[in-house]
Parts: sequence; structure tokens; C-alpha cells
Amino acid sequence: MLPSRALAKDIQMIGETNGEDFLYKLGYEGAREGAKELIKSMGLKPRSGWAAQKAVLSLLEFLGYGRSEFVVSRIAKDGHHRVVFRVWDNPVIEQAASLYGPRSKVCSWFMGIYAAHGEMELGLRNVRLKENKCLCRGATHCEWETKW
Ligand SMILES: [Zn+2]
Repeated sequence: MLPSRALAKDIQMIGETNGEDFLYKLGYEGAREGAKELIKSMGLKPRSGWAAQKAVLSLLEFLGYGRSEFVVSRIAKDGHHRVVFRVWDNPVIEQAASLYGPRSKVCSWFMGIYAAHGEMELGLRNVRLKENKCLCRGATHCEWETKW
């Protein structure tokens, strides 16, 4: 995902102007549309549950959203879940960390994106990611959690 520095600045500006909830929703809505295309082109079944987890993480890495892995991954058939995962090597978050440090807002955008993919491809329901740790606040990676 290039140019990552310019993208970090754009996303940060949107977050500063409109707030982090807006940024999250922006990421979420855009990624829902993207996920529909990807599901079709990859031949994934929508909401195909845990079987798709590796494919989804590989796909997000391929798209430039960084590397990620699950720390906790419990998903019930009805979509109830507790999922914790970490993200690193995301070039936009890395740029934002160096440009803005703890003032960075870009993770809200990415959490919206990941939330949409979690719902569309993994069958999670009512995803609302919160950030437990952040690269921009000095952690070695970002850690995001959702529970319902
Ligand atoms: Zn973060």
C-alpha cells in the first residue's frame, strides 16, 4: 500500500477533522465493498467461518494491511465471539507512529477495515474492535479485540 506516508497523513487529517468513530466507519464501509469483490474473486463462501481464517489474514497482508495473527479466536456459530489479534508490519501505521506518535488516529481506520473482513469472511457478528496496545504508543505491535 503505497505511498504509505501520504496515506498516513490523509487518514490522520480525516481523523482529526471528523473523529475516530467516523474514521472507523469509513474503513468499515469501504472494506465491506472490497470484501464483496474479494469473496467473489477468491471463490470464498461469504461468512465461511473459521476455515477461511488463514486465507483472510494472507489476503489482508497481500493488500498491504500488514501481518497479523490471532491471540484468541473463539467464534460461535451464531456469530458470538471473542477475538484478539495483533497486527504489525503495516507501513501506514509505521509512518503514523513516526509522524504522530501517540496522537495517531490511523488505527481506527484499519480497525474498521478488519472489522468488515471479520464479519464478511469469518462470520463474526457485531464486531467492534478496541485497541489494547498500539505501535504508535510504543508497543511492538497493535493488538485489537472484539467480544460479543
Ligand atoms: Zn495501533
